[in-house]
Amino acid sequence: GVRDKEPETLFDKIISGEIPATIVKEDDKMMAFKDINPAAPAHVLVIPKDRNGLTRLSKATKEQSEMLGHLMLTAGEIAADESLGFGNGARIVVNDGKSAGQEVFHLHIHVLGGREFTWPPG
Ligand code: 5GP
Repeated sequence: GVRDKEPETLFDKIISGEIPATIVKEDDKMMAFKDINPAAPAHVLVIPKDRNGLTRLSKATKEQSEMLGHLMLTAGEIAADESLGFGNGARIVVNDGKSAGQEVFHLHIHVLGGREFTWPPG
């Protein structure tokens, strides 16, 4: 985002349209699009449009509470959307940091569905 002094991420390029993506939901604050390398039959990523320093969840501040709530509510709406292949349980995940599998340092919520999931996760 504009207030963000950190380098542009891949997801900034999806927001700007420079990299095409299949957008499933969008408003002024967030964008949700299909993961290019899905880990389940249904796999959507929910991201804030203005990253504003939020490279990873553990960097979040109180000022970002409303935005985080909005992203989480959106993830829940997507998890209930049968037209996207969801509706029968979903795994909703945030990878925080490299050792947890985070590759893109622009906060994103994974919404996975369309299959069974095991617990604990790998
Ligand atoms: P992370 O590993 O950071 O939690 O998740 C990053 C996700 O972004 C991965 O699941 C990966 O498949 C997805 N991804 C990486 N590059 C692209 C891209 O160019 N387009 C889309 N739609 N997803 C991407």
